[in-house]
Amino acid sequence: MSEFLSSEQLMQLEDKYGAHNYHPLPVVLAKGEGARVWDVEGNEYFDFLSAYSAVNQGHCHPKIIKAMVDQASKMTLTSRAFFNDSLGVYEKFVTEYFGYDKVLPMNTGAEADETALKLCRKWAYMKKGIAENEAKIIVCDGNFHGRTITIVSMSTDPDSYGGFGPFTPGFIKIPYNDLNALAEALKDPNIAGFLVEPIQGEAGVFVPDEGYLAKASQMCKDKNVLFIADEVQTGIARTGKLLACDHENVRPDILILGKALSGGVYPVSAVLADDHIMLCIKPGEHGSTFGGNPVAAQVAMAALKVVTDEKLAERAEYLGNIFREELKAIKSDMVALVRGKGLLNAIIIKPKNGKEAWDVCVKMKENGVLAKPTHGDIIRFAPPLVITEAELREAIERIKKSILFFE
Ligand code: PLP
Repeated sequence: MSEFLSSEQLMQLEDKYGAHNYHPLPVVLAKGEGARVWDVEGNEYFDFLSAYSAVNQGHCHPKIIKAMVDQASKMTLTSRAFFNDSLGVYEKFVTEYFGYDKVLPMNTGAEADETALKLCRKWAYMKKGIAENEAKIIVCDGNFHGRTITIVSMSTDPDSYGGFGPFTPGFIKIPYNDLNALAEALKDPNIAGFLVEPIQGEAGVFVPDEGYLAKASQMCKDKNVLFIADEVQTGIARTGKLLACDHENVRPDILILGKALSGGVYPVSAVLADDHIMLCIKPGEHGSTFGGNPVAAQVAMAALKVVTDEKLAERAEYLGNIFREELKAIKSDMVALVRGKGLLNAIIIKPKNGKEAWDVCVKMKENGVLAKPTHGDIIRFAPPLVITEAELREAIERIKKSILFFE
């Protein structure tokens, strides 16, 4: 048995030996089950972040853990230099699940986004006839697609891109939720794709107007431009449908998934597309040592089966309506706005007596609910989708109590 280390000691270790690229809430978690987590001292909390929507199926879902352990005890990694006995089975499963011809397996969300960008450019040169190195991709202000150099080159958030130049060229930035700006940008014949989050999660759960995605997708089709949906955060039942694009019956040309594709137990991401796009990338032109490994394949299949078996999209839709209704009813002028879809929600906090979103999150932590502020004044609420109605109502009471504390 290793020596017991307190929360305080563990936080000091991270501070001393870890890079300071995060600013966590002061809570040190040691155990999770369903929608609940426990710190090293044994205090219990509701997790209202779900590892940024990776743990949609709940912490340590027994079926997903079993799939991982079973596979890990037989074979973990072959690399793609050889075939393995899980990948093809997973590829058939995941393509049928989402309705695409092919999948390209990767590990993290950022890698899947990078893959989609490469695929889009390749398609532009091979199929659309854009001159070599001239392809452009439209992206949206306020986007978040990850942390690589190319991805931060698309960012409009100085915290993301500042100090990391020189940047990758070839991106056109337009305002989110603005079809006129999209129409204007689409006039350029060198546009190959439009990369968009159906709801901007990191920007603070910014939900576009109804009809935006459907119209944007049609406008892209009219111009032979690929509509690329980054559903890394919004996908896998989070917003009350399997994909957030499903709310508007939009089928992206390229679909990017990550996070909850594995139920949060393992890094698994994927890019899905039909043959005429996916086969533009040939052997040797893209890959990943760990992408498509047998553990990832088994874990992702188990995670997606849980989504179907436990009707997580329907649960998110039902519970999300209760959550927003109850939060809107809080009688505090600190709650400036409640917004979201399914169980991806946020409130905007109007500071009061010098108390801000961070103070509300610290108070919620004391009352047993974990959430994190984003962009200073926004608190995102994204519990695991397996949360029961009774648990959700208990959590809502704790959230209310925490906000009203500052009245
Ligand atoms: N895309 C979106 C929409 C995200 O929200 C995120 C992470 O928050 C990513 C991509 C990056 O995923 P990862 O952190 O796994 O690289």
